Amino acid sequence: MRLRNKPWAKEKIEQYPQYVVTAPEELKGKWNTVYEANQPLHIEIGTGKGRFITEMAKANPSINYLGVELQESVIVSALDRLIEAEVPNVKLLNANAVNLPQYFAKGEVSRVYLNFSDPWPKTRHEKRRLTYKSFLKIYEDILPEHGEIHFKTDNQGLFEYSLTSFSAYGMLLKYVSLDLHNSLFEGNIMTEYEEKFSEKGNRIYRCEAQFQK
Ligand code: SAM
Repeated sequence: MRLRNKPWAKEKIEQYPQYVVTAPEELKGKWNTVYEANQPLHIEIGTGKGRFITEMAKANPSINYLGVELQESVIVSALDRLIEAEVPNVKLLNANAVNLPQYFAKGEVSRVYLNFSDPWPKTRHEKRRLTYKSFLKIYEDILPEHGEIHFKTDNQGLFEYSLTSFSAYGMLLKYVSLDLHNSLFEGNIMTEYEEKFSEKGNRIYRCEAQFQK
């Protein structure tokens, strides 16, 4: 993602603690206190400008959603979206995914979404891919037994790599689609990247991967 320098972003984020969670390490085991309703929590890692997570929250009021995003300059756009949407069941977290086990107890997150994760195509950057085995361990640590990752990308190389990584980790692959927009999948909610790349004619790949313990 091309990043614009937004020196005011940090200050703006701090002005909206009702939308962007602060002190997540103090919430470990207590995330149900953050939302109005005590219900399952689904998180999107690398939420970008927040379209997917906000629309999912509107469509599924009986699920709580959290968009996790590393970059302040990006999450601030997601914040604008949340302010406008006024939906009670979605929040944001400005954090690096590597730290998630410090913030969530085992089983506290019911599902992980990865949408259009940065592909990091160079082999020497493999460990940065959000479907690398060390990240799968992180997701396993916060999901319940048999928890699921739902993954979408337009990047064929990252998709192939991720299918192999999920399988090598012993995960069960379900609903693998090599052309999501021309498949029978219903209720797809597009992300910002998904709209941009599908308009260019790129195919969208999707799969669900389930931990086996
Ligand atoms: N999911 C959005 C979409 O589909 O439009 C954004 C996709 S963008 C290519 C990937 C996003 O993941 C970027 O905003 C980046 O800052 C974020 N990201 C990358 N590594 C991350 C990490 N380790 N933890 C949290 N966010 C991360």
